[in-house]
Amino acid sequence: MELDLQPIELEGVSKERPLVIAGPCSAETEEQVLSTAKQLSDKGVKIFRAGIWKPRTKPGGFEGIGVEGLTWMKEVQKETGMYVATEVATAKHVYECLKAGIDILWIGARTTANPFAVQEIADALKGVDVPVFVKNPVNPDLELWIGALERINGAGLKRIGVIHRGFSSYDKKIYRNLPQWHIPIELRRRIPNLPILCDPSHIGGKRELIAPLCQQAMDLGFDGLIVESHCNPDCAWSDAAQQVTPDVLDYILNLLVIRTEHQSTENLNELRRQIDDCDNELMDILAKRMRVCREIGTFKKEHNMTILQTNRYNEILDKRGAQGSLCGMDADFVKQVFEAIHEESVRQQLEIINK
Ligand code: PEP
Ligand code: MN
Repeated sequence: MELDLQPIELEGVSKERPLVIAGPCSAETEEQVLSTAKQLSDKGVKIFRAGIWKPRTKPGGFEGIGVEGLTWMKEVQKETGMYVATEVATAKHVYECLKAGIDILWIGARTTANPFAVQEIADALKGVDVPVFVKNPVNPDLELWIGALERINGAGLKRIGVIHRGFSSYDKKIYRNLPQWHIPIELRRRIPNLPILCDPSHIGGKRELIAPLCQQAMDLGFDGLIVESHCNPDCAWSDAAQQVTPDVLDYILNLLVIRTEHQSTENLNELRRQIDDCDNELMDILAKRMRVCREIGTFKKEHNMTILQTNRYNEILDKRGAQGSLCGMDADFVKQVFEAIHEESVRQQLEIINK
């Protein structure tokens, strides 16, 4: 289904990249909301975020202040002139937000992963023209993400954007949620006119990662950023480690280098030709490697050997990883490449053995 979209243009908000939405993870108290909003507004931020209902992984955490917080959001509108945005996860949240005049809604990652919940929200939004941002689902499933967009668009809403907030993984290393940048990049390729914001706070999970993630998002051509900012981050009731003060946010935003896509392209075209050559060579060499693999498959079949020879596989991964490091590549990256190549080789050998 093709999406029928309209640009999210907000009066008084610059069309230049990045569009910035900032505010605390959660609305906690009237004072915290107002004080954070005023400080952000003084720094030129035009759109304020705060979670009113918080989906928590485990019970017992702060689950959001609830409807009471919506009146504080209205005060933010009144006192600062900012637009206000919050997360909706049920039809009831939608009705409460519309009643309170919340300007922008977003659907959280846990909700996007559930088509019933998204449909319920879409139905509640029928006939309403409000900008909606859809966060990626917690799992790296582009179709599920697009499905949620189709449901919202199917309800007649056209001012839709997305927020890339990374993907859950069992193995938490640097990031709280793995960026898997290729997924939003593929989304951009599939739906070019869809605005994409990056949420460095939930990807990084810690303050230090916010600046580099913002820069990376800008370098990848994202349209905007949604960043968690709190007047007193260390005392935040949720996501304390990843929030920054409005001052720090301002500092981060001022340091961003915004590169445009359409500068002089002559040198770039030459470099792209070189990349095409490299890719062609890579394809040739891969095809050759697969041919050899198929020959090995025939040999294994004739000698009644198993396809997977674990020692040999480990040897390949270790050797290539080490070679990669010597060439300035990340050893894990090289390992992943060879794991993928190996998977295809095994598939081809299985075809031969089962013929
Ligand atoms: C949030 O924005 O505070 C939030 C809960 O994010 P996510 O849905 O990405 O986890
Ligand atoms: Mn949060």
